[in-house]
Amino acid sequence: MNILLLGSGGREHALAWKLAQSPLCAKLYAAPGNPGIAEEAELVALDAKDHAAVARFCAERAIDLVVIGPEAPLVDGLADSLRAAGVAVFGPSKAAAQLEGSKGFTKDLCERAGIPTAGYVRTTALGEAIAALDRFDAPYVLKADGLAAGKGVVIAETRDEAEAALADMFGGAFGEAGAEVVIEEFMRGEEASFFALTDGTTILPFGSAQDHKRVGEGDTGPNTGGMGAYSPAPVLTPALERQVMDDIIGPTVATMKAEGIPYSGVLYAGLMLTEQGPRLIEYNCRFGDPECQVLMTRLESDLAEIMLACAEGRLAECEARFDADAALTVVMAARGYPGAPEKGGSFDLGSAESEGAKVFHAGTALKDGELVANGGRVLNVTAIGRSVTEAKASAYRAVDSVDFPSGFFRRDIGWREVERESE
Ligand code: ATP
Repeated sequence: MNILLLGSGGREHALAWKLAQSPLCAKLYAAPGNPGIAEEAELVALDAKDHAAVARFCAERAIDLVVIGPEAPLVDGLADSLRAAGVAVFGPSKAAAQLEGSKGFTKDLCERAGIPTAGYVRTTALGEAIAALDRFDAPYVLKADGLAAGKGVVIAETRDEAEAALADMFGGAFGEAGAEVVIEEFMRGEEASFFALTDGTTILPFGSAQDHKRVGEGDTGPNTGGMGAYSPAPVLTPALERQVMDDIIGPTVATMKAEGIPYSGVLYAGLMLTEQGPRLIEYNCRFGDPECQVLMTRLESDLAEIMLACAEGRLAECEARFDADAALTVVMAARGYPGAPEKGGSFDLGSAESEGAKVFHAGTALKDGELVANGGRVLNVTAIGRSVTEAKASAYRAVDSVDFPSGFFRRDIGWREVERESE
C-alpha cells in the first residue's frame, strides 16, 4: 500500500522507520518530514492546513492510508476532510480530537462516565475563576482549555500566584486557548503514560512509558516537550494497566461511541498514580514525542497493518506484540531550548548508530549538504537493553559519541527506574 505520513518530529521519524519496515508498505511519502525521515520516505511539500491539497495528493498518488502525527491537524479536522474524500486515515475526527483539544470537554466526559480524575471547575471569566479558587486548596492547577503546545498549565503555589496567573490567562497569554480556563484539584503521585489504539469499538493496549518534561537534571527548570523517555514503565504493573483499561480507557471509548463521536486512532492517557489508584491527568489524541520513539523501538508487530486495520474499523483482527526489553531515548537539544534555541549548529553522529543505538531526527535540516540543528529538540538517541539501567547505559554510550558542540542533554533520563532497579 501507499502511505502518507504527516509531521516532522522525532515521533514521525520513529513512525516512518517502523512503517517502512512493513512488507505491506509499497511506498511511503512524508510531509514535510526531516532529513532523518528522508532516509525512509519520499518527502513532499504539502501543507497540512490545506485539506484540499492533501486530498488531491492522496488521489494523484493512490494513497491507501494517511497517518497524522501531530495534534494540530487532528484538532483542525484534517481526518474528517480526508475521510470525506474517501481516504483511510489513522487519527481521530475533529469532534473526537476534542479529548486533547479541549480540557473542559474531557473533564465533562470523565464526569459523565465516572472516570477517576481531579475535581474541576470550568470558567470563562476572571471574576468567576477567582471566586472558584475558594473551592480548592493550594497548590492550584490552572489550565487553558485549548491547545497551548504543552505550555498552557500553571501550578500556582499560593492564592496570589493563582490570581495573577488567571489574570494573565484571561488577559490573552494563551490567545484563544485561554478564553476558557479549567481549575483542578492537585493530585499527588508518580506520572506515567499509557497508550491504546482503538477503532471506536475494539481497544488494543499499546504500551506504557515515562517521560521527563523538565529541562534540567533532577527534574528541575522549565517544562519542555520532553527531554527523554523509556518504555515500558514498570511502575504501571499489569494489575494497574488492567485497572486503567477498565476504569479509564474502556469507559472513554464506550462513552464516545454511545454519544455519537467514536474515537479512532491512538489514545494517549497521561496518568497520575495516586494512593487511590490511577487517575487521568489528560488525554492526547496522538503519540507522545519522545514516547513514540521508545514504543516503536520495542514494537515487533507490523505497524502499517495495525494502523490500516484501525482506520478501517478492523482492529479486532490485530494484536500488538512488544519486545519485553526496555528502550530508552535521550533528547539532544539545541542550547537555549525551551526558550530560544540556537539554530544552525552542526553535529556529527559519530559511531552512535554503529554501536546499536538508533538516532531519530527531530529539529534537523540539511545546509550545504551538512546536517545542522533546526529546532529546539534536535536528536533522539535511542537504545534497548534487558533493563532500563542497561538501555540507559547503551543510550548514553551513543550520546557520548555524538559531537554536537551547541547542544545539550540530560544525563539522568530513566533515573526513577534505575533507582528502583538498584534496590
Ligand atoms: P502536555 O505537554 O503533556 O500535553 P498539557 O499542557 O496538555 O501538557 P497536562 O498534561 O494536563 O497539560 O499538565 C501538564 C503537567 O502538569 C502534567 O504532566 C502534571 O505534571 C501537571 N498536572 C496537570 N494536572 C495536574 C493535577 N490535577 N494535579 C497535579 N499535577 C497536575
